Amino acid sequence: MIFAANFKMHHTRASTAEYLDRLESILEAAEYPFKVMVFPPATALQPSRDWITVGAQNAYPAESGAYTGEIGLSQLAEFGIDTVLVGHSERRNILGESQEFIAEKFGYFADKGLQIIYCVGEPLEVRESGFEAVAEYLWEQFDGIDLDYERLIVAYEPVWAIGTGRAASVEEIAATHAELRRRIRRPLLYGGSVKPSNIAQIGAIADVDGVLVGSASLDPESFHAMMIAVAPPQV
Ligand code: PEP
Repeated sequence: MIFAANFKMHHTRASTAEYLDRLESILEAAEYPFKVMVFPPATALQPSRDWITVGAQNAYPAESGAYTGEIGLSQLAEFGIDTVLVGHSERRNILGESQEFIAEKFGYFADKGLQIIYCVGEPLEVRESGFEAVAEYLWEQFDGIDLDYERLIVAYEPVWAIGTGRAASVEEIAATHAELRRRIRRPLLYGGSVKPSNIAQIGAIADVDGVLVGSASLDPESFHAMMIAVAPPQV
């Protein structure tokens, strides 16, 4: 199972380093059967640790160049970063990234061989229009995306569940992941208000291969509590 922590615009360079030290010592002691990833802000990027892959929340699809405010492949390479989030709903909806641009990013980083967590998710009005509308909306978010890319991980994150405290129900997640699984053979993560109190239920759903966690990942003890809930330590 994959546990991915998206810090968004939380944590500094110093607090990210402290977080990774703490998480590393937890993982070293526990030997969990999990793949753990942490996505800090760009200013806090640093090399991956033994049990933790450090990835970028965003990058511009170029090696370097005149793209004010962005970071590209050469800035990622300096820290050995080879994992990137693409298509997060906050970048689609707040930063205005179009499907065309997102597909360009995907193509660029796939061409460079990076591991990509590709995010999709429907807004509330689409969810309220019924499952067919949800499926149609989600598949449109795969326009221009190579579903067979071998380093692809997909994260299904309903926009209405992100940062709201209201996760999708087990039935909603199960049905949506089953729909995605029809065409996607790569790992499927669920994201949206995952926390210690609901991770066991969510993690047990068929076709949920992991979780992408925002708020509840910001404290390493809370992130760890989710791992314990899925794989309690053997005593
Ligand atoms: C996210 O932004 O990817 C996310 C899932 O956030 P939260 O866990 O806070 O809903």
